[in-house]
Formats: sequence, structure tokens, C-alpha cells
Amino acid sequence: MILRLLPILITLTLLAGCNKPVNCIESDTLIFNTKIYTANDIHPEAEAVAVKNKNIVFVGSNKEAEAYKCGEVSMLDLEGMFVYPGFIDSHAHVKGIGYRELNLNLQGIDSLKEMLTVVEIYSNLKEPGEWVVGRGWIEKNWPEARFPTMGELDRFSSDRPVVLERADGHAVIVNSYALKLAGIDFDTKDPHGGAINRDSNGNPNGLLVDKATLLVEKLIPKKTLKQDKEALEIAIDESLRLGWTQLHDAGSPYADFEILEEIKLEGNLNLRIQFYASDGPDALKMLEEGTIIDPQHFLSARGIKLYADGAIGSRGAAFLEKYHDYDTSGFLIFEKEKTMPKLIEALKKGIQIETHAIGDKGNQITLDWYEEAFSLVRKDERLIENPRWRIEHAQNIQPEDQLRYKEMDIIASMQPSHAIGDLHFAEKRLGLERLKNAYVWRSLLNQGVRVVGGSDAPVEIGDPRIEFKAAIGRKDLDGFHGEGWHVEEAVERQDALKMFTKWASYSVFEEDIKGTIEVGKLADFTILSKDLMTIDEEEIMSSEVVMTIVGGKIVYSR
Ligand SMILES: [Zn+2]
Repeated sequence: MILRLLPILITLTLLAGCNKPVNCIESDTLIFNTKIYTANDIHPEAEAVAVKNKNIVFVGSNKEAEAYKCGEVSMLDLEGMFVYPGFIDSHAHVKGIGYRELNLNLQGIDSLKEMLTVVEIYSNLKEPGEWVVGRGWIEKNWPEARFPTMGELDRFSSDRPVVLERADGHAVIVNSYALKLAGIDFDTKDPHGGAINRDSNGNPNGLLVDKATLLVEKLIPKKTLKQDKEALEIAIDESLRLGWTQLHDAGSPYADFEILEEIKLEGNLNLRIQFYASDGPDALKMLEEGTIIDPQHFLSARGIKLYADGAIGSRGAAFLEKYHDYDTSGFLIFEKEKTMPKLIEALKKGIQIETHAIGDKGNQITLDWYEEAFSLVRKDERLIENPRWRIEHAQNIQPEDQLRYKEMDIIASMQPSHAIGDLHFAEKRLGLERLKNAYVWRSLLNQGVRVVGGSDAPVEIGDPRIEFKAAIGRKDLDGFHGEGWHVEEAVERQDALKMFTKWASYSVFEEDIKGTIEVGKLADFTILSKDLMTIDEEEIMSSEVVMTIVGGKIVYSR
């Protein structure tokens, strides 16, 4: 059981004019009597911070803070708590976080048997013909250690379509009814960038990978705007509760941006969001109309999301050599003739590109095309000279390509939780030898590459404590690490903190306004009950989010 600490005392001093000390420095909020990690190398620690008009106006000692204990200041005595710059999730899918709560959530299920039971119960609640949609299953820690089969789903769902998305979003398992609705049979060819898995007779077996998932998913009745809004509002609350102050939304339709604008107008957008438009019509719209930068720094759209390849679990990530356990080397999703014009236009219009690339070939090709675009559009022809393009996941990178990240100043946007999940099965897929190029956080940092941290929620839980613990320990939550996990690729705590604060801000051109606790920056803080920088790794998950503050406003408090 978690012991709840006494509520924090917020004292509002109302020292009217006559009592005001002569040397009173006015502010709105004073946080004091605490330990503050600033992520600022010049003054890495402090005891007090004062906020006025959403910005930090003072960072220093308790003694210096005395001058601020005056006027109409809200005083937060945070004795025994720990204050960090507001945590930033550099890779998340905002609406998906909300829908995880609204749909059948298969995350955290411990066995195939349990999942089939849960889906059967849920399916029985539906009418014949109604869609049964679930997501979040992952087989890697199941005792059965395999995907569900179509036959297992058919047993309880002969009169309704079932589609269950794997946690990584790159594969679905469907039942026979859904395959039939989609018209997928023996004669259906694999779409570009996707695979219809088959049994030994060549008949589809219900497992669809990457672009092939769309053959079924396009048939699922669309969510209404009202449902989307509900999902986005849930995601905002959930993220603040977990201690995030900003999310970088890794590829969404403009319709979501418009709903978020509505939520902002209604005064309910307390989480900062950096929006990346999905590839396709949404990306083209941004290339046509340009970026939208919010002067209040809550909701900006500055880039587009592309996909180079798939994921390792479903063997869709593109590798230079074949998988260890299957006769494929994965496949590329994007095509050069469609992608290159987008890259060129993006450079001219100052639009940031972030590309999902997991396999070593996926990473290499992405770097190749970025490099070609850079050479075609000279610096003086670009709206932003250093475009700070990103590669999302950046999971497997050949040593010579790691150097190119640095040379071309490409940001590696990585998710520590992916490593501690994937490494359980990556050896089976890739073989031991290739794992030395996998999730190379420390190697990239040592080479001067900018590494930024994210969770990929709802693919992963999306808890900053999990990400921090994974980054510094490179062990799973049970403390396990196996051969080939390369623990030497774990990072120092100060670096882990910067991955989720200072460097994350750089990756969206906001390093001058946020990401550290410094005078002049936005007052975004994550306040925890424990000291992430010194406690035992095993204690990290017991640290509670005490408070989340965005722009000086308390937007979550336990
Ligand atoms: Zn993602």
C-alpha cells in the first residue's frame, strides 16, 4: 500500500501595504525549503524558485528566497520533496493514450490464455456484426511466448469481426469474419510496406503486419469527433497525473489539432503539446500551409511524421541482413519518389521532419535521404538553417551511421522502455552479434549526438519513472537483464534527466524558453516524493508524483 503524505501546505500571505517590507520582491508563487534539480549545468541544484506571470523569476537558496516572502505570494513549502524541470515525453500518441482508457485495453495481460478470456467476455457484450476492437497485447513475457491464432479467436466470434492490435501498433491479429469482410484470401497480394502472414498452404492466418493492417482497420467504424475529444481530454489529465508537462505527438491528423485548439479555447489545455502531422494528406497540408507556432507555447504544429519501416516484434523493421528467425529482412514503408519532394519542401518552409526508423537499414536509408535533401536545398535556401530533423526510435544503427547522426546533426529520439521490453526477444529475432548496435544511448551521447527521451505511450505505459529507471539501469522492472543487453549503454542520471527535459526542449526549438529551471524560462515543474538522482534504482518506482506545475499553475496535485 502506498502511504499518502500529508497534504502540502499552501500558505497565502496577505501582507497588506503597510506590512510590506521595503525590499519586497513581488512574485506570484514561491517554492522553497526543497531540493531542486535544474538541469542547468552552471547551477545544477537549488532550494527555492519564484514564479511571476508564468515565468521563473528567481532560482536560489532558502536564504535568498526570504526577500520573496511578501506581498500576495502563494508559498509552497515543499520540505522533503524534489523538484525537477517539467518532464517532457518526446514521443507519444496523445489520442491513443485516451482511447486506451476508453477501448478494450489489453496492456498488462500476463498470458495468452488470460487475453483470450478477456476478449471473449468483451466480445459477448457486443451484438452480432458489431466490431470487437482491442489493443495493447504483447506476447514477449507470456508463458506461451507466441501470437494468438485466428482459430483461437474464431472459437467465440463466428458472427462478429475481431481485431486486436499488438502494443507496438505494427501488427494486428484478426478473426476469420474480419478477414472475410476485408476480402483477404489466398489470392490477395501483400500491399507495399506490409505483409499478410500465411500458413504453410498459403492461406492468410489472421496476422497482418504494418500497411496490411489497414486492409481491416479501414473498415472499423470511425470514431465521432465527440469520442475523439473525450479521448484527448482523458489523455491530457492522465499525462499530467503521471508528471508530464509536455508531449510531442508523434503523427496525428489535423482533425485532432483542431479539437485540441477547441480544448485550449475552453481553457482546458493544461498540458503542452507539440503536434506532428501524419504522413499523407495531413503532411501535405502542412507542407502547403506551413507551421503553426503558439506564442503561449501550449499547442504548436511544426513538423510531419514519416515512417521508414516497421517494428522488430512483427519482423517489419528493415535490416541490412535477414532476421535470425525468419526468411525476411523486413521492409521499407516509405518510397523515395514520394518522400524526397516532401523533404525538399520541408527544408524550404522550415518544417521539421521526424521519421520512424527501427532497423539498421531503416536508419541508413533515412540518413541517406536526409543527406540528399540537405545537399539539394542549400542552407541559404532554407527557412531554418539547421532544421533539427529527428529520427524516432533509432533502435539499430550501424557504427558508421552513428557517426552520421553527429555529422548531420540529426536528433535521436529514443524510448528507454522499448529497450527493456524488446531485449527480451530481440536476440531471437536479430542474434546476439547485432545487439551491440541496438539502443545505443550511451554510444550516441559519447559521440556528441543529441538523444531525447520519450515513452511512445500508449505503446508503452508512458510513465516517466519507468523511462528514467530503464535509461539509467537498462534492466526490466523486475531488475532482470540478460546476455546481450549491453548494460554499458545505460546513461548517467544527469543525462537521463536532460533527455526528458533540456534536450527534449531543444528537439522542438524551445531550449531558450523551457527545459531547465532558470530565470526567464517558463515555470514548468514536476515534483516527486523521492530523489531520482540519488535513490537506489529499486526505489524509483515507489516515487510518487506530488504535483505537476505548468506555466506556474498547479495542474495536478495528489
Ligand atoms: Zn510511436
